[in-house]
Amino acid sequence: MTDISDILSKRLKLGFFPTPIIKLQNLSKSYSDYNIFIKRDDNTGLALGGNKTRKLEYLIYDAIYKKANTIITAGAQQSNHCRQTAAACAVANLECHLLLGGEEPEDYTGNLLLSKLLGAIIHYTGDNRKGEDIPLLYEKLLSADKKPYIIPYGGSNIYGALGFINAVKEIKNYNIDYIYFPSSSGGTQAGLHIGKKLFNVNAQLMPICIDKDETEGLSLEEMIYTIIKDTIDHFHLDISFKRSEIKLIREYESPGYGVLINEERKAIKTLAEKEGILLDPVYTARAFYGLLDHLNRNIPKKGSNILFWHTGGYPAIFQKSLKI
Ligand SMILES: *Cc1c(COP(=O)(O)O)cnc(C)c1O
Repeated sequence: MTDISDILSKRLKLGFFPTPIIKLQNLSKSYSDYNIFIKRDDNTGLALGGNKTRKLEYLIYDAIYKKANTIITAGAQQSNHCRQTAAACAVANLECHLLLGGEEPEDYTGNLLLSKLLGAIIHYTGDNRKGEDIPLLYEKLLSADKKPYIIPYGGSNIYGALGFINAVKEIKNYNIDYIYFPSSSGGTQAGLHIGKKLFNVNAQLMPICIDKDETEGLSLEEMIYTIIKDTIDHFHLDISFKRSEIKLIREYESPGYGVLINEERKAIKTLAEKEGILLDPVYTARAFYGLLDHLNRNIPKKGSNILFWHTGGYPAIFQKSLKI
């Protein structure tokens, strides 16, 4: 067995960690059966922050270790992952290529604007927003004498997972019973599952599934299980994990990825007006709506400590199409 602290030390510092955990005082008064806390990964500090900073600390470390000089990754035009990757590449002095779905827009807004500002080279890929075109660009860059390194869609692989294994240490002393968070490409959830076992944290994961579509024909459950198994194997971790331990809350995904419904708008307004904290319209609005709906239905045990893991996403608030 390998020493986990040794594995987790191999990172490039890109953010401010640990991020704060605070109690949502007003919300906890409204839902007086519960103590509600928030983990502020919206404040990781890398170019407007977010959960991808944690993954990129390990991914970019690995890219540099493998002597890459060019990074390729992919996502939607409003991808927080792509924006944070562009920022990480700026820090590490790496060329950054982003494959973004759709056609080039007339106006650059939100994450797309920032990715460009951060110096990324942007390729538009039409209907392919999950990295389908990565192999082609990889070959092109190779033949142009670059040393490309691929970061998968959402930064979700064994290195990305290390970021959230490490994150579990930050909540160890809070006696949390439930962790609500948005789950989409699986790296966050995979890391939390493994971290819980390695650091003996008993909190129950309450992952709100954001995207009803599959990626490359795989369900999100299968993707998460694959990342977990590969991480355990690759780093020789002394834990076991069963497929049946992965449970996603799929009650809120039906509107589809990036489609904001009225209940989610209301959830954004609730947290803003009660606590002065903002949510993004794609991930955290859906997850926070899910949390409020669960509280209204008394799904968590009464008296429990609940953590809402804010995963970031602020730039998407500034899309022109957002009607709050
Ligand atoms: C990427 C992202 C998520 C989902 O994390 P995964 O590791 O892809 O499941 C949640 N919230 C925000 C703001 C994100 O950018």
